[in-house]
Amino acid sequence: MVNQLSIYNTLSRKKELFKPLHSPRVGLYVCGPTVYGDPHLGHARPAVTFDILFRYLTHLEYKVRYVRNITDVGHLVNDADSGDDKIAKKARLEDLEPMEVVQYYLNRYHEAMDALNVLPPSIEPHASGHIIEQIQLVKDILNKGYAYESEGSVYFDVEKYNGKYHYGILSGRNIEDMLNATRELEGQEEKRNSVDFALWKKAAPEHIMRWPSPWSDGFPGWHLECTAMSKKYLGEEFDIHGGGMDLIFPHHECEIAQSMASTGKPAVQYWMHNNMITVNGQKMGKSLGNFINLEEFFTGSHSLLTQAYSPMTVRFFILQAHYRSTVDFSNDALQASEKGLARLLEAYTKLDNKDFASSETSDTDIQGLFNKAYEAMNDDLNTPIVIAQLFEAARIINSAVAGQIAVTKENISDLKRFFDLFLFELLGIKNESKAGNVSYDAFAKAVDMLLEIRMQAKQNKDWATSDKIRNELTALGFEIKDTKDGFEWKLNHPS
Ligand code: ZN
Repeated sequence: MVNQLSIYNTLSRKKELFKPLHSPRVGLYVCGPTVYGDPHLGHARPAVTFDILFRYLTHLEYKVRYVRNITDVGHLVNDADSGDDKIAKKARLEDLEPMEVVQYYLNRYHEAMDALNVLPPSIEPHASGHIIEQIQLVKDILNKGYAYESEGSVYFDVEKYNGKYHYGILSGRNIEDMLNATRELEGQEEKRNSVDFALWKKAAPEHIMRWPSPWSDGFPGWHLECTAMSKKYLGEEFDIHGGGMDLIFPHHECEIAQSMASTGKPAVQYWMHNNMITVNGQKMGKSLGNFINLEEFFTGSHSLLTQAYSPMTVRFFILQAHYRSTVDFSNDALQASEKGLARLLEAYTKLDNKDFASSETSDTDIQGLFNKAYEAMNDDLNTPIVIAQLFEAARIINSAVAGQIAVTKENISDLKRFFDLFLFELLGIKNESKAGNVSYDAFAKAVDMLLEIRMQAKQNKDWATSDKIRNELTALGFEIKDTKDGFEWKLNHPS
């Protein structure tokens, strides 16, 4: 297959044709979660976005080494270089070992990712398991003269670095503006400059996560782990680095500075960032009361939710927006996605219907659907356009079943292949509909049979039996309509 994948590179601010450094090998690094709380929408979006990239690159026959890290040390509460470690704080509050907190939330993260059908990465390294590599990186940066020691901590010298390289190259920020904005901040006496960031922090006496180093017993700065672990597993130069847009500054800007300062060359060819999630038009935040975790979506237990939404509804909903657009979660929008996905799965099951008459001639062009869907994937993973093609395929199936258009046997098998590839393999939707697991034909005949028994019961004025069948099918999500010739039915919510 000819690779025509273009991806938007945050660094060049344009779409670029994807050319791997060592084809067919591709190195992909994505910033993973800081594991100190329940997995939520903010975790789901990057995981799903880069799962699509991972699946598509694999489909294009690249050998992808996908590294997604686990931040289990050094991510401080206020995201700057002061305050508590997020995990240590949680451990202290709940009287647990920090690694108990990490394991507990990591298990929950993995469960949620499994439910969302996010494929596991090739390597999932922990920051706390790579302290030696991080200390070595600090030494390299010190040796190159772009860092300094102060009171047992080591800071990156941003101003000196900016004299040779460009600090702000990714975020478009300007060091003068940053200096003006941060000059007034207190508690940064150890730093030469307010824009400098910590590579190593000396641990305060009460700080429980600490390791020996040449400078002090302490812990690495948050930005360091991704530079050290991507280098270890993907090499000094690798293809794609991804993450949420909120990580562009300071995290990814600092990563660029750390690798440039230590090796003299840029580590990453393509920087990719997914946009953020809002809930009912508002930024998600604990203090705003709209912080809904994934389990609450799956069970419908949050007060803002009018019902439960299955993991596949959440996944499909995320994919109905392009990854560089914002996604706004609301009950209305999620219910529309649920209906849309059910419509696609229903059409798919009809392909197995033995009564689906094929003809010798065809009124339809399935290859055109494949071309448009591939074109969309190649255009910076444009999943909403892929989904539009799937709805077009569903329309063709429904028209064919209704006898409005003619399809050949080959068309039917191409349509099946189209769903199998784009909906299930590349978009990663699991067919949660139970009807999808049995032959649709047998399923439909069983429902028809029940409704025929109901018709007979009605003719015999056996209202108890007739009502019982109707009520129980309705409770299962079937919509039943009496017509002059008999009945019609459809399944609204495959459960
Ligand atoms: Zn990172």
